[in-house]
Amino acid sequence: MSDMVVVRKEGLFCVPGGFYIDPWRPVERAVITHAHSDHARFGHGRYLAAVPGVGVLKARLGEIAVQGLEYGEQIDHNGVRISLHPAGHVLGSAQVRMECGGEVWVASGDYKVESDATCAPFEPVRCHTFITESTFGLPIYRWEAQQETFAQINAWWRRNAAAGRCSVMLCYSFGKAQRILSGLDAGTGPIVCHGAVEALNRVYRAGGVALPPTRMVHEVEKADLARAIVIAPPSAAGSPWIRRFGDFSDAFASGWMLLRGARRRRGVDRGFVLSDHADWPGLMQAIHASGAQRVIVTHGSIPVMVRWLNQNGFDAHAFDTEYGDDEAEDAAADALAGEGAGLATAAAGERDA
Ligand SMILES: [Zn+2]
Ligand SMILES: [Zn+2]
Repeated sequence: MSDMVVVRKEGLFCVPGGFYIDPWRPVERAVITHAHSDHARFGHGRYLAAVPGVGVLKARLGEIAVQGLEYGEQIDHNGVRISLHPAGHVLGSAQVRMECGGEVWVASGDYKVESDATCAPFEPVRCHTFITESTFGLPIYRWEAQQETFAQINAWWRRNAAAGRCSVMLCYSFGKAQRILSGLDAGTGPIVCHGAVEALNRVYRAGGVALPPTRMVHEVEKADLARAIVIAPPSAAGSPWIRRFGDFSDAFASGWMLLRGARRRRGVDRGFVLSDHADWPGLMQAIHASGAQRVIVTHGSIPVMVRWLNQNGFDAHAFDTEYGDDEAEDAAADALAGEGAGLATAAAGERDA
């Protein structure tokens, strides 16, 4: 039987269905797994996305022709039965299940198996072929339970507030920021959000996600900023906007903060390890839970995961995609240029960092 999904220059293409999944070039029909910019691009004719993600898509892409599909709801398109299932990555993130002629393929998009308060938890979906991401696809990547990380972030904020210093947390404005907000102890002080973060907060709240009260910087008395935590995108680092917070302590939250080199390059006071992607055990858990014999690996540690899966009884292959790394955002290029290439070997030395 020929493959149900192949890579074309526009993106992942469902052959019998005649539609694309997260295409990187403009196409007529696009099924979108989630609204991070490398997966959800402008210029497609029609979009299909999970209902909880439609608000984010519109907030980021403006007026697009988008149809929302409830999680688990099925539609038929050119003889392919399509349904979307929670991926646990960000609000509205979905795995795409495609069934045709008794064959089932699932494209994961980005996913995380640990559930959190800001989106529907990852749902294992049985299939013959599972297309998985591999952003943190090396055995060294193991996350602590998020409550541990939230406790560390709250302790850092409390110490700064006691010392009269503002805390500045840099993180991706869509997904990571809201997850951090959901874990903050709002009793410590005011929570100030950069405009880019607040725009997404509004979409999350409209989608029924509970977040603590947040304020824009002009809504906070100058004296109160000394007890505040500020949530801002990495692009705000070094900007005039951020200098107003005076002698602040800064931090960055990302899965890459597990690596000493990545922390050093960021030049921040603290690195908190918090990822919206599955760690190595999470990737393995999801792959096993899919029941798939055939696994196709996309963006991340492709060669390592393909080799490991083939050595462990799977029929593993790779898809070359143009998806990026939402954990690194604007610093992806320099952070990964150094870390990515020699990671498999350098990682052992980073483990105890
Ligand atoms: Zn993503
Ligand atoms: Zn991705």
